Amino acid sequence: MNGFREKMMRFMAGRRGIDQFSLALYILGFVLYLLALILSLPVLSLLSTAVWIYGLFRGFSRNIAKREAENRWFMGWFGPIAVKIKQAHVRFKNRKIYLYYRCPKCKCWLKLPRNVGEKHVTCGHCGASFTKKA
Ligand SMILES: [Zn+2]
Repeated sequence: MNGFREKMMRFMAGRRGIDQFSLALYILGFVLYLLALILSLPVLSLLSTAVWIYGLFRGFSRNIAKREAENRWFMGWFGPIAVKIKQAHVRFKNRKIYLYYRCPKCKCWLKLPRNVGEKHVTCGHCGASFTKKA
């Protein structure tokens, strides 16, 4: 087992491995594969295989600069979406502790501890002030 591990480490030396873009490709490939099964569309199955092969190619590629550029491109548009998903998860987790609401002027998220009654609130982003009941 140790020999195998050593061989794998030697094989992966100088290669990119899994980054965020590759992980997203594997997940996308899996979703496409499931859709292909559900909708019985062979073209989706083919597409999922192509996406997986591209993900594997990226992981084993020795052209690290190119793969990093691809990952930067991916994170450039997916990063903000990932942040929004993470924030929505936190809001959901703390929904019983805080009342989350949007600022009426700039629409950014604000929170108040629940059961504080009516409060005068000033938005930290745009400075708009209003009253909110929590
Ligand atoms: Zn605001």
